[in-house]
Amino acid sequence: MSQPFSVSAPTAAIAGSADRFPVRRIFCVGKNYADHAREMGGDPAREPPFFFSKPADALVAGAGDIAMPPRTANLHHEVELVVALAKGGKNIASGDAEAHIFGYAVGNDLTRRDLQTDAKAGGRPWDMAKGFDHSAVLSPIRPAADIGHPQRARIWLSVNGDVRQDGDIADMIWPVADIIAELSTYVELRPGDLIYTGTPAGVGRIVAGDVVEGGIDGIGTIANHFL
Ligand code: MN
Repeated sequence: MSQPFSVSAPTAAIAGSADRFPVRRIFCVGKNYADHAREMGGDPAREPPFFFSKPADALVAGAGDIAMPPRTANLHHEVELVVALAKGGKNIASGDAEAHIFGYAVGNDLTRRDLQTDAKAGGRPWDMAKGFDHSAVLSPIRPAADIGHPQRARIWLSVNGDVRQDGDIADMIWPVADIIAELSTYVELRPGDLIYTGTPAGVGRIVAGDVVEGGIDGIGTIANHFL
């Protein structure tokens, strides 16, 4: 059987390997650091983390130039720990979650904040605020086989060398294992799924010409020039 055209699946780099990680879906956690929930006008005690998604082909795998997206005057950076799954499942127990993880990466959950603010005010979906083309920046994935499962590490982001976000992954409201457990009660997770686990405080605007660099100690860094 033939198809009228071919579609290629996105892949991510694997640190220290020529192999590629095939990306199936991209899930994201909202408001998973208390200081960021507060800066967005929320109350972390009253609003637990929640999930949204981006299309897999929103992936920007690695360093390089990113064109400023259309339909926004307020593009924001959100540096995040990203979990890459090698194994799937439904109703995964928190205590079993680490066995499903292939590795970890640094992500930037690019957000058209003006569209998100409008969507929130109108009670409308976030898709066009979060799931636009080239909105899921990802560093090479560092295999858990090499680095284990980090519970504590500095996570930071700079714009043109000025540090704007500076936190620790230990400060996530829901740690990685709990995120996997909870998400797997909503959907059956699958190999190739990525989970962006939320951003610490300090999100802010990116303008054309900016160089945005993010990193997590022991996992990696990612730098992109916005045009
Ligand atoms: Mn985010």
